[in-house]
Amino acid sequence: MKKLIVGNWKMNGNLTANQDLLVALAGNQNVASGACDAAVCAPVSYLFQLKNVLETTRWTWGAQDVSAHDAGAYTGEVSAGMLKDFNVRYVLVGHSERRQYHGESDSLVAAKAQRALAAGITPIVCVGETLAERERGETMDVVKRQLAAVIHAVGHCATELVVAYEPVWAIGTGQTASPPQAQAVHAVLRAQLVAACGEHGMSSRILYGGSMTAANAAALLAENDIDGGLIGGASLKPTDFSSILFAASAA
Ligand code: PEP
Repeated sequence: MKKLIVGNWKMNGNLTANQDLLVALAGNQNVASGACDAAVCAPVSYLFQLKNVLETTRWTWGAQDVSAHDAGAYTGEVSAGMLKDFNVRYVLVGHSERRQYHGESDSLVAAKAQRALAAGITPIVCVGETLAERERGETMDVVKRQLAAVIHAVGHCATELVVAYEPVWAIGTGQTASPPQAQAVHAVLRAQLVAACGEHGMSSRILYGGSMTAANAAALLAENDIDGGLIGGASLKPTDFSSILFAASAA
């Protein structure tokens, strides 16, 4: 299946720097030729800019979070319907930085995924274990529990999810899961999707995230069940990001 590369800018950017970066992305030949699929998830304040620069290209874009509520007295929250006004295609839900710093539970993440799907936005469901959980041998149990909460909430719509396996110990640390380590987790997630969605689970995309760089992307993306990447730090560097897009197109 065609690989999907998604950049996560996290809380970085400003209008001027974004413009340069987006113009560079818009000119990327691997994306323009359709050799890989690609998206950028930016802070909500810049979604209008992504829409302006990318709407005439093959790029898609997304947000990094969404409210579990539809509308009302939820100061500071942004609903899925509001994101849809900016034609977003994706929204990250359950990123480990949200689980860790904002106390997001599996059930809240599941509710967010439901809201996104109801608005016609594809949730990218992030799952992953901490270093302590890996050392205790709990990796598979943790990721299965996190994904099960979402599958349970969205029912037959599970076929429409994108899943991102992001070991917490690899995010922003420069430490990457080895390709076989990542593949082992992806295979478990694949089996879970197939159990929930039948053969459609075979075509659901499972991305790897956690210090993916120009240097390690090709080896990770060569694994059977690694269908793309969720890229933080390297997505802010046009040359590195374009090398990852190249690796995804060649994989
Ligand atoms: C992320 O933010 O989802 C991520 C994978 O970050 P990094 O690539 O910087 O590890």
